[in-house]
Amino acid sequence: MRDCFEVRDTDAGGRIGELTVPRADATVETPALLPVINPNLDTLSPRRLATEFGAEILITNSYIIHGDDDLRERALEEGLHELLDFPGAIMTDSGSFQLSEYGSIDVTTEEILAFQREIGSDIATPVDIPTPPDVSRERAESDLETTQDRLEIADAADTGEMLVSAPVQGSTYPALRERAGRHADGTGLDVFPVGAVVPLMNDYRYDDMIDVVAAAKRGLGADAPVHLFGAGHPMMFALAVAMGCDLFDSAAYALYARDDRYLTVRGTRALEDLEYLPCSCAVCTDHSPADLRGLPDRERESELAAHNLHVTFAEIRRIKQAIRAGNLLELVEQRARAHPTMLDGYRTLLDHAAQLERSDPVSKGSFFYTSHESARRPEVVRHHDRLTRLSVPDRLLLTEGDAPRGDEFDDAWRVEPPFGPFPRALSKSYPLTAEVPARTDRAALAAAADGVARLVETNPETAVTLAHRGWPADVRDRLPDGIALVDLTAADRNRNR
Ligand SMILES: [Zn+2]
Repeated sequence: MRDCFEVRDTDAGGRIGELTVPRADATVETPALLPVINPNLDTLSPRRLATEFGAEILITNSYIIHGDDDLRERALEEGLHELLDFPGAIMTDSGSFQLSEYGSIDVTTEEILAFQREIGSDIATPVDIPTPPDVSRERAESDLETTQDRLEIADAADTGEMLVSAPVQGSTYPALRERAGRHADGTGLDVFPVGAVVPLMNDYRYDDMIDVVAAAKRGLGADAPVHLFGAGHPMMFALAVAMGCDLFDSAAYALYARDDRYLTVRGTRALEDLEYLPCSCAVCTDHSPADLRGLPDRERESELAAHNLHVTFAEIRRIKQAIRAGNLLELVEQRARAHPTMLDGYRTLLDHAAQLERSDPVSKGSFFYTSHESARRPEVVRHHDRLTRLSVPDRLLLTEGDAPRGDEFDDAWRVEPPFGPFPRALSKSYPLTAEVPARTDRAALAAAADGVARLVETNPETAVTLAHRGWPADVRDRLPDGIALVDLTAADRNRNR
């Protein structure tokens, strides 16, 4: 186990964990949000972040502090916590972002790590190379080699109690991200940011973002705390948490406020377009949209930033509660409806259902089938795998109806979309207790048919009869040959005649 991180609870790929930050003498519960503080601009003061918003940790940029004579002197003299007046843990970035924006920076990994330690950072960052999406594979590979060299320098450096992050790069190449994850995991470094995903988010490429995170996670161990670097919009937190992200940083709350933009969990709204404020934070209960629009610039920016941050922290708490309750994927399904590209992200998440299944609890409170995507959830994948291990009798009836009398069959199992067949004894166990709409959709029937197919293919000697309620031809086409079919709806019609 990694000393600094302990997983307490899981749901799908999401987890509630504890990140121990020894230098701050603090334990941060994850998923956690790190508000970004620009040391030159105080949209909301760090002290206020702690007292009013409950921020346990924030992130600031050591490269900006290093490059400013006044800030550097004060940070070296007073220490970072005094400089910012923040009582919690402080993570520092290294200038990698400036490197990617401007092409060069004037510090080395050794220098900036030593500086971060000197000013009292609790979690430091080496100078990695944030490789943008869609570059050539050659470039992504050569950048990654440089990043890996920097991680090894950081690993060998004397950093004392300070935690050090190990960014995972590799552009949009899943194989490189996985390799990068494995390399980072093999170092003695502590926190694992998945880097250079901001361009993906800016272009609403949530599907690619999920593929990148899934690949990094395959390389990293299950005990690695994962930071989605630069992701601050609350709309996508549930999705990213479900794929296994533990830490987020938000500059968005302040940047959007500067542009008069109002964050919601269903997307961003322009203040000028709002006639009502769909939020009950202090800002939104004390003001109407017109009030806010009438405020002087600085004040309006600060009020909007406060609202944006309230919404952001509230979503983190909602996600934690969903993990505890075991309904994180239900929350992801809701969020996925906010924007078509979010739905792409969710569908991509389900492409990784087998990977998520490993951390998904065997038993939870409830499974709500709320969209046809539900048919691809990890619980369905797990049930289909389980079907290959159940023992079956010689003559088996699988039925959506009642168990028949008589001795035509040795046993009669239930069939429930989207899971497919199961012995009656399992009826009361998760996830077969799922709440499924009476108006079943095609995806649930198809998944049930796939379950039947798995069972039949694993047990070629068994004589299987399937009694279904009017499954359409394209669903029946998924069933293997040699299975006897009875349409219960036809039998019902005959009985009623
Ligand atoms: Zn509000």
